[in-house]
Amino acid sequence: MRRRRLQRQPTHAGGAAVDGGESLALPELLRRLRTDAHTGLDPHEARARLLRDGPNELPASTGAVGWRLLWDQIRSFMTLLLLGAGALAWGLGEVADALAILAIVVLNVLLGFVQEHRAEQAIRALAQWRAPKARVVRGGQVVEVPAGELVVGDLLLVEAGDRIPADARLLEAYALQVEESALSGESAPVPKVVVPMPAPDETGPGRAGHVLFAGTTAVAGSGRAVVIRTGAHSELGRIAAMVSEAPRPDSPLQHALDHLARRLVAVCVLAVTVVFAVGVAQGQPWYGMLLVSISLAVAAIPEGLPAAITAALALGVQRMSRRRAVVRQLSAIETLGCATVICSDKTGTLTLNEMTVVRIEGPWGAVEISGQGFSPSGGFFADGQAVDPLGRPVLARLLRAGVLCGHGDVAHRSGRWVAVGDPTEAALVCAARKAGLEPSRLRGRYRVLAEAPFEAGRRRMSVGVASEVPGVAEVMAKGAPDAILAACARWQGTAGEQRMGRAERARIVQRAEHLAADGLRVLAVAARRAAVTDLPDPRSSPEVLAAALERDLTFLGLVALRDPPRPDVAAAIERARRAHVRTVMVTGDHPATARAVAAAIGLAREDEPVLIGREMERMSDEELEGQLGRCRLFARVPPDQKRRLVQLLRQEGHVVAMTGDGINDAPALKEADIGVAMGIAGTDVARQAASLVLLDDNYATIVDAIEEGRAIYDNIRRFVRYLLACNTGEMLTMLGASLLGLPVPLTALQILWVNLVTDGLPALALGLLPPARGVMQRPPRSRQEGLLARGAGEEIVAQGTVIGMSTLLVFAATLALGGSQAQARTAAFASLVLLQLVYALKMGYDAGRHGLPPPVLAGSVLISAGLLGAVVAWPALQPLFGTTPLPAGVWALVAAGSVGVAAMQSLGDWGGARASRLVARLIPALSRGRAS
Ligand code: ADP
Ligand code: MG
Repeated sequence: MRRRRLQRQPTHAGGAAVDGGESLALPELLRRLRTDAHTGLDPHEARARLLRDGPNELPASTGAVGWRLLWDQIRSFMTLLLLGAGALAWGLGEVADALAILAIVVLNVLLGFVQEHRAEQAIRALAQWRAPKARVVRGGQVVEVPAGELVVGDLLLVEAGDRIPADARLLEAYALQVEESALSGESAPVPKVVVPMPAPDETGPGRAGHVLFAGTTAVAGSGRAVVIRTGAHSELGRIAAMVSEAPRPDSPLQHALDHLARRLVAVCVLAVTVVFAVGVAQGQPWYGMLLVSISLAVAAIPEGLPAAITAALALGVQRMSRRRAVVRQLSAIETLGCATVICSDKTGTLTLNEMTVVRIEGPWGAVEISGQGFSPSGGFFADGQAVDPLGRPVLARLLRAGVLCGHGDVAHRSGRWVAVGDPTEAALVCAARKAGLEPSRLRGRYRVLAEAPFEAGRRRMSVGVASEVPGVAEVMAKGAPDAILAACARWQGTAGEQRMGRAERARIVQRAEHLAADGLRVLAVAARRAAVTDLPDPRSSPEVLAAALERDLTFLGLVALRDPPRPDVAAAIERARRAHVRTVMVTGDHPATARAVAAAIGLAREDEPVLIGREMERMSDEELEGQLGRCRLFARVPPDQKRRLVQLLRQEGHVVAMTGDGINDAPALKEADIGVAMGIAGTDVARQAASLVLLDDNYATIVDAIEEGRAIYDNIRRFVRYLLACNTGEMLTMLGASLLGLPVPLTALQILWVNLVTDGLPALALGLLPPARGVMQRPPRSRQEGLLARGAGEEIVAQGTVIGMSTLLVFAATLALGGSQAQARTAAFASLVLLQLVYALKMGYDAGRHGLPPPVLAGSVLISAGLLGAVVAWPALQPLFGTTPLPAGVWALVAAGSVGVAAMQSLGDWGGARASRLVARLIPALSRGRAS
């Protein structure tokens, strides 16, 4: 026999492949992989293979990108312009100027590069956020491992909604369908089947129906497969090595800014031309004027703004991920700030998803079950007396069905019992364990022959399993009570099976309502015996499987699960309410459960109306729209109605955040302005369709993300206003002087320096401000609103004018008082810088949390002020910047200018606030006066 051969890549990029993974006969493949088709790899062996082969990850390609970014910076138009200016200076023998310009170019390029690089990194992190977990069987136990830790030979469990984490050969498949468009370009789902002895040409995506490929997505059914290739050796790895970089997704904000910047360029070029022409006409040396004009153009054109916005958004990505929200699209950050409605799932988002079965009842009686969370310790009680559940045949049958009709389990992880797989199913397994049933033994004994998987539209699932009696199978089903009852023809009591009459049906429905009204989630369980030959072919479509299995069932009982509300949700709902963001519950669960939970978390009153999916289906769009304003609770909502809800809300002008977890939720998530998927409980399909992923599945995290979204937009608005006002100020200083026939007030290097340091540093700091106290106490901003809306445009013009005119005034006054030209320039330079810093502080104050400017801002202002002092007072720098020591009188003038402006501003604000309050008080008085 040939020895098993593993190919390995010498680099970091992990992974391995087994020879003949797609073509060998299954028994031979399993032998070669040294793995077991039922118990999987031993955990120790898995760890050893991981160490040997490296992680199941694709090699990251970052190095080249860094250089590309740097090159982009260097060859940008502004850099080239500056380099041209430097060359000019050099050619004219102004070596010091040339070197200084070169230094500034280097600094500029580096700063730009750092910003772009950080942005790129953050965006990359978004793109790489992929299937984080895989379910495998190791040592006979179902465990969830990070997808990166999969090794060749692992036994992989796959369900509809999973993204396939590695290439794997199927051992079992139930109506499994996989979407392989990522690899083959073909978007129709491919049915997947077990082929024990494949033909030699059945290999590769599109042809190998018996192989699962990494990067594709299971869209229906379930299966079990053995991993044959991981990491760079997978089909995806081979393709990834070939395809080039995906283009970077831009946000609308960036587009808007590009547009704005382009318009500003026109204005700047015009102004710069005037400055140059007037200067030359006045008899200034043309090369000096050219240098000044180029510097002015470089300083005034906000070409770095789009990059700065990207950096701010990227920073937002980081800040949000610290608050457990992963942003998958940059634009989501902007949109979050506009959100007006959150449509939230109940289970897992508003509640903990720590399902515990507390009661099981049926026509045979009722039992209460003790215990906490997913810990499998607890007992069964009837009328306060401990009972043996396995001694009651119907209950025992029900518990067994609860295990076999599902894929969940509970596991002990780092000192805690947690759910593996779907929490509802884990809870059922947990109850069975409390009764003494061992899930893995049960699943080994009763093999699943066919399965109709859970689907939110049908609200039920079923399996057909082999029983102990040869040739006899048992069909088991569980789901929402009405969905299960619809497929039931009989019920089982202590005295055997009976026909299900209308009275019995009504009684069961009433009991389910009763339990749901206590906030419990209620499932019904049913079963029937059948001949193995009567079971449907497991390869049939899900519809065929469901139709064949889910009929003629015998009702066994109702299972009631408790799922406590999340402790921080009530406060978060209140926070959203104050921020004028409406919270709407959209659940697939029972209306009574929905209402009880909503009341418990302060979302709605006890008697709040609940709109049910079936009613929604009957309503016309107009009717439903009429309900939207009043109704906050939507229950038994199938995925297509979720999507309709989003559509209608958006038509009404709402900006909608919608949560979802299932495959069927993907269209609603795409339709929503902000699709929100669950990081823990959701399917990979939902995560791919979403623009925001909650790492903790918590509703409160959405509200946090909205707060961050608002704060980040505020910051962006703030630094855009600041930068543009400062640029306007510089421009007006130069333009004003040349129109007034004054000498040139600022040297080329001074202008470049101001551009780099004094308006650069505080602008960066303004982009970093934490959320202001009031951000969640005002309505969301309108989405149509531009960056310059709400007075920002006026403010830029007003502030720019104040800065420009004051600087000019100080310049002219120094000259008029007999100061030298150098002194006047120094004074103008100092006052320009100080005015900008005062403006930055004022902005920080307005954003204020504590009345004092935030530390980042105060720090950057202090640094800028210190650098100003150095440029003015340090003899080594003076010749370079054309500065000179100022007499105390001139300093006093400079200081008076900035203090005066600051005082006028605060006075203006104070007066403005007074006036508006006065008006607010007067107007009602006036209207009252008119009414009487
Ligand atoms: P939600 O998560 O909003 O409560 P779902 O759409 O996930 O709603 O589920 C809808 C209904 O389907 C649930 O109320 C429950 O009755 C039933 N259900 C949920 N999970 C399962 C499952 N794994 N198997 C069978 N039925 C289920
Ligand atoms: Mg659910």
